[in-house]
Amino acid sequence: MPLKQAFGKGGIIVAGRKLSKEILTRLKKKLLQRKTYLMQELNSRISEASSSSDAQLTDLMDIASDSFDDELAMSLASVEREEIVEIDEALVEMKAGKYGLCNVCGRAIGMKRLEMVPFSILCIVCKTKQETEGNHGGEE
Ligand SMILES: [Zn+2]
Repeated sequence: MPLKQAFGKGGIIVAGRKLSKEILTRLKKKLLQRKTYLMQELNSRISEASSSSDAQLTDLMDIASDSFDDELAMSLASVEREEIVEIDEALVEMKAGKYGLCNVCGRAIGMKRLEMVPFSILCIVCKTKQETEGNHGGEE
């Protein structure tokens, strides 16, 4: 991958663009807040949809694998789950100093896009492409 990456003082230089520590801290905060919110949403949806109100997030995978009823709850919550996964990926990339780069083409993701969707791991071009391809991908 022909991208230049270096750790600058108090920030990360990604593909020639410096993300200052302030911006990173702010976006990270946004991500964590969003994640907390989504976890709460998930929890409430799952307790609404399932009769066992004591279902914990950490048990979700187990529940999903052996209970059909909870599949409904899981599919209801799939949007939140997907977003949480994306947020986690973004946080990992932040740690690795790769945050703000498109996972597909390696180009820097637009700052506006990062502000609006801090968990973006794809640039707008690749994201659009992926969505278009996904729509025409046919059934599994
Ligand atoms: Zn891209």
